[in-house]
Order: sequence, then structure tokens, then C-alpha cells
Amino acid sequence: MSAIWDRIVGHEGAIELLKGEVDAHSHAYLFVGPPSVGKSRVATAFAAALNCEFRGCGICSSCIKVKHGVHPDVHIIEPAGKSEYLIGQIVRRPSSTDFVVAEEAIRTPFEGRRKVFVFKDAEKLSEDCSNALLKTLEEPPSDAVFILIAESSASLLPTVVSRCRTIRFFAVPRDEIVEHLVGRGFEKSDADLASRISEGLIGEAIDFVSSPARRARREAVVSALCRLPTAGPSEILSIAEDLLAAVRSGIEEVKERQRVDVEWASELAPPHMAGQLRKRLGEVHKRAALREEQKGFEEVLLGFARWYRDALAIAVGAPECVINLDRMSELELEARRQPRRLLACVELLMDVRKRAAFNVNMQMTLEAVLFKLQEELAESAHGRWSGF
Ligand SMILES: [Zn+2]
Repeated sequence: MSAIWDRIVGHEGAIELLKGEVDAHSHAYLFVGPPSVGKSRVATAFAAALNCEFRGCGICSSCIKVKHGVHPDVHIIEPAGKSEYLIGQIVRRPSSTDFVVAEEAIRTPFEGRRKVFVFKDAEKLSEDCSNALLKTLEEPPSDAVFILIAESSASLLPTVVSRCRTIRFFAVPRDEIVEHLVGRGFEKSDADLASRISEGLIGEAIDFVSSPARRARREAVVSALCRLPTAGPSEILSIAEDLLAAVRSGIEEVKERQRVDVEWASELAPPHMAGQLRKRLGEVHKRAALREEQKGFEEVLLGFARWYRDALAIAVGAPECVINLDRMSELELEARRQPRRLLACVELLMDVRKRAAFNVNMQMTLEAVLFKLQEELAESAHGRWSGF
């Protein structure tokens, strides 16, 4: 039995390789590929397989604990600092009582067969943290497995990379995503749209079809852009407020999923570890809620950019490249503007999106973006395009 792998779409090469290593694994892996492509899902499945009596049955208590993040021997580690890992996460700092990787790695597993340490965003391991981790990677305990997850190996210390077995992840073809979503009972039209919006990132596609907040956010983006050309200043402020509410709507969904994990933690964690596990889950959950807000904000800006990119695709005669397939009539109207104006809108949005990664004031940014876009569009309305 190896059902834990069955729900993963794509990545056949990586999965075959890892399945073959359940009994004779390397000590350290580096999973490299675009964000949301499925690296974390594969890492979780591998952690479950390493600890399951049936190599990842998906239904035993061990597999269920790994799935909900409450297995005492499977540790998902994220940067605790604002933008990077803290050295205290890797080695013990004086008077700290926190969880420390170097110490956990040499302990005997509590109940599983392997201790697994999954480092998310491994590019955020500073040089000090990497060097501290390297000591453990150089003399790994025989029952510990480290999985470092990163977008690229270039931002990691070469000494760390050389200790890891690198496994590459690629975007999943659009038709595989559609097939998977339809197989899970989603409408074909929704699956089609999700496959385009996700651009091959299966995590994104599943998130899009299964999250009402995410769907509502996308509707808020489309409605904002349709209202924008004729909106007065007070309506623009109200559009920005609607968008901000849409940005934050995903937080409740995240909290609901977290409540389920806490219930599993209370039910399944060994009594002597329940307190420690709840504390760690609390920290992870707090960061996840903050991340969700940031992600929602970036998604709105990306949604804006894709809208004008779609209009541009139609304007230059490449409608097959359109992402927002279900809104062709609105996009065709938008496509009547001058391509260089549409391109200016896309560039403005991509630029704002880059800056948005650095804790900007979301409401003010949205207002400024909407006013600026309206200005661009008003200018383009004066001269309808009639060809290059
Ligand atoms: Zn199992």
C-alpha cells in the first residue's frame, strides 16, 4: 500500500525515486522548484511513508498525524525571524527552552521509525544558520532525514547543497491539472479556469477551486476593474475597501483549517508532548495567518496584472493565451484600448507587486494603484487603437 502518494498530481519522477528510497534513504534532500508546485506535499508524503508500517498507507494513525502536522517525529520548520531563520532554531541559545533542530536530531524517535525535519523556504537559512545546520548534516544521526525546500539551490550555501540529494520539481501540464480536478468532482469549467490561473502550480489550482474566499477574491478583482474606468474618487476609495476585505477573507478559512489541526493535536499527541506541540502549532498558525493576508494582497495585484495582460493578448491577436476565459466579453472591451497603455498597466502592477513583498500599507497601496490605473486608462480612451 502506498496511498499517501496517490493524491499528488504530477512529479512522477520525484515520487518514483522517493518511493524507492523509503527503506534506504539519503540523510538530506533538497527539493527545488517554483513555489506552490507541490514540493511540500511530496515532502509530507515522504515523511509519512518513512514512518508508516505500510510505506505510506494514508490511513494509519502515523499517516494521519503526519498529515495534520502533529506527528512527534515529523517537524515542519519555518523561518521564525521576520525574513530568515534564527540561529536559536538550529542550536541551543543560552536560557532558551525552544525546539532546537540539532538536539532533536540526535534523540531517538518518540514513536515513529524516522525523525524528519522539513525546512520550508530553505533559502532563508542565513550563513550562520547554514553553518550550524551543516554540522548536523555532516554527521547525521542514522534515523534522521532532512528535507530542504527551496525555489532554487543558488541561494543556499554550496556546502549545504553538496550534502543534499537534489530533486527538481516542475510545473504540472495544464491538462493533467484539469483531469485531476475533474476527477475530484469539480466542474470542467472551474477546472479549466483553475489550470490557467495556477499556471501549472497544482497547489494553487486546488486552492483556487476549493476555497470560496479565493473565488470571491477573484470576483472582487474583476468587478473592481470593470467599475474602475468610470468610477469617481469616492467610488475608487470604496473599491479599495472592498478589495481589502477580499484580501482578508482568506484568513478565516486558514483559521478553520488550523482549528482542525489543533483538535487532532489534542486527540493524537502523546500526553507528555501535547503542551509543546500546541505551542509549536500556535507559532506556525500565527505565521500562516499573516502569510495568508500577504498572499491575498499579492494575488489581487497579480489578478489586476493578468487582466490587462489578457486584454493585451486579445488586442494583439493571441486570445488562446487568455487566463480569465470566462470573462471574454469584458476583456474584449478592454482590448480596444491602445496596447501600449495596457502594457503600461501590466508594468505598473508588476512593479507594485515587487514592492508589495516589503510590508507596504495595503489600503494606501490599493488606492494609489487604482487612481494610477484609472489615469492610464483615461489617456488610452482618447486614442483608440487601430493597429500598429
Ligand atoms: Zn500509514
